[in-house]
Amino acid sequence: MKKFTSLCFCFLAVIIFSQSVVAQDSSIYNKNEVFDPNFLSRGGTEFRSANGAPGPKYWQNSADYSIHATLDEKDTTLKGNVTINYTNNSPDQLNYLWLQLDQNLFNPSSRGAATTLVTGDRFDVKGYTKGGYHIEGVSVIYGGKTYKIDPVITDTRMQLRLPFTVKGNGDKIDVKVNYWFSIPQYGADRMGRLYTKNGVVYQLAQWYPRMCVFDAVKGWNTLPYMGLGEFYCEYGNFDYYVTVPADMIVAGSGELQNPTQVLTSTEIKRLDEARKSDKTVFIVKENEVGKSSTRPTEKGMLTWHFKMHNSRDVSWTASKAFIWDAARINFPSGRKGIAMAVYPEESKGYDAYGRSTQYLKHSIEFYSKDYYEYPWNSAVVVAGVALGMEYPGIVFCSYKIGKANLWHDVTHEIGHNWFPMIVGSNERSFMWMDEGMNTFINGYASNYFNHGEYGDTTNRSILGMARAMMRSKDPLMTPPESMSLRDYGQYYFKTAAALNILRNSVIGPNRFDFAFRTYIHRWAFKHPQPIDFFRTMNDAAGDDLNWFWKEWFYKTWKFDQAVKGVKYVDNDPADGALITIENEQKMALPVIVQVTEENGKSQTLKLPVNVWQRDTDWTFKYNSTSKITSVVLDPNGELPDINRKNNTWKGK
Ligand SMILES: [Zn+2]
Repeated sequence: MKKFTSLCFCFLAVIIFSQSVVAQDSSIYNKNEVFDPNFLSRGGTEFRSANGAPGPKYWQNSADYSIHATLDEKDTTLKGNVTINYTNNSPDQLNYLWLQLDQNLFNPSSRGAATTLVTGDRFDVKGYTKGGYHIEGVSVIYGGKTYKIDPVITDTRMQLRLPFTVKGNGDKIDVKVNYWFSIPQYGADRMGRLYTKNGVVYQLAQWYPRMCVFDAVKGWNTLPYMGLGEFYCEYGNFDYYVTVPADMIVAGSGELQNPTQVLTSTEIKRLDEARKSDKTVFIVKENEVGKSSTRPTEKGMLTWHFKMHNSRDVSWTASKAFIWDAARINFPSGRKGIAMAVYPEESKGYDAYGRSTQYLKHSIEFYSKDYYEYPWNSAVVVAGVALGMEYPGIVFCSYKIGKANLWHDVTHEIGHNWFPMIVGSNERSFMWMDEGMNTFINGYASNYFNHGEYGDTTNRSILGMARAMMRSKDPLMTPPESMSLRDYGQYYFKTAAALNILRNSVIGPNRFDFAFRTYIHRWAFKHPQPIDFFRTMNDAAGDDLNWFWKEWFYKTWKFDQAVKGVKYVDNDPADGALITIENEQKMALPVIVQVTEENGKSQTLKLPVNVWQRDTDWTFKYNSTSKITSVVLDPNGELPDINRKNNTWKGK
């Protein structure tokens, strides 16, 4: 999901910075709170190892989906049926199943509607009264027999109570659901309909009942969908068919299986050209939109068939307004893929979606090279009503934006294909695990693209935001339904700032990058918990970083280091100086200190965080040869110091 718009961003910063910072006269630091041996001290299990890797008995259930759905443009409904082949790899027996019915958010009586501010917010239902699933029939097939099930529906969840027990360790059951729903125009900023000059752009997501995750941490994960908290889904293979009016173009997650039935020979030829081209190739040009020559038939309906392997979800879009372009993706292994963009005329042009395929291609190539190779062969960016929303192999971005804003939106949304689409964390409970890690990698992608054309200016703003966010009363571990809607930006910025500071100022890029990649590879297509990330980083980087995880993720502590004074050994600068520093606030970080002498000598020293394990203040010896003219803490502004006035000491 997209981060704040710049407007919200400034507004938030103003609110938070305007709360005046009262400088502390005396330190409130307590070393035993930071370096707490009891924090995260629980040992590993056979499911989750103490080193942060999946344990020898780690298990995960899976769900393969076969979906058929039809878009009825006149009634603005989607009618479908899904068959879920569910495998219970857990050791537990199951006598009921839980499914997610996310469309029920748009039922006026939903919990999400009840907890929306009267003034509305980004994730609300905007007064839509027709929303919600109509479940027309549920059955299960087990042991060759079909059973009709009367589902128990509570808000966005559906329980299927079974007249038998699904065994553990690989037993299977098929679930069949027939359903329909009215497509909301504004789908909580994640889906919906956009009315353009040449037709409606439909963005379909959360469009079929999905299995809840059953795991070894909570059992069934049944938190409702209330707006802000995103999704937690099982992995599986998807085989889906969408039937739409024949004059529409469809783009979806995964690979199109029946191009000869739904595309013209010209479009197929152009797609083949695009697969061999690093430059963008048009599949449907602007002056071809709406022409009969772009469709194999204009009358009736056409069914588009897609497949996606090992994914946690699929989404799609349909419109007769689409301009369509594409280019090749080059993967590190030598494999090739295709990046595509579909957008209405309103979004055309070099300064807008005319470059979006290149933004997508270069983002995927960068993340594949630096973190983990993108496992699928295609990706598409869609211009529509959603401000910015991610799905496997398809991202929805705002049709209104261009240039740097569009780059940042595309690279962020496709970056989510690493967190949480590849590394399958629980977004509904731990929003920082996907938004924050993704925002962190986005900065490096921005530096990489076109020699830094949209270079990372976020580091500075991230530090400002981190300072601001530390004044929030909610720590990063706060779940989305409890996080103040004013403060959820910290999932993105405070997390990214924490990871950048850990990488660049605490353990160094080499150790950080190795540990971070180890985490991605260990947990690709699995379900990590926060503890698995923290332990992997500790173990692979080789440091007990629990102090860091505590202060950044579990607390709202602030950071302030101060220089207290300088004395010379035997009152002679030539014999060296004793410099005293103090930690004023509760957060501890390493010390970066620049010392300048009268004779022009200047040196930057680094002290490990361990000095703060000793005491609240610390005196270290600096081998001065002449009088010291200044001592400056954090001279380059790498750390989120809330009071920089006490960072400098000036010699007389
Ligand atoms: Zn996001």
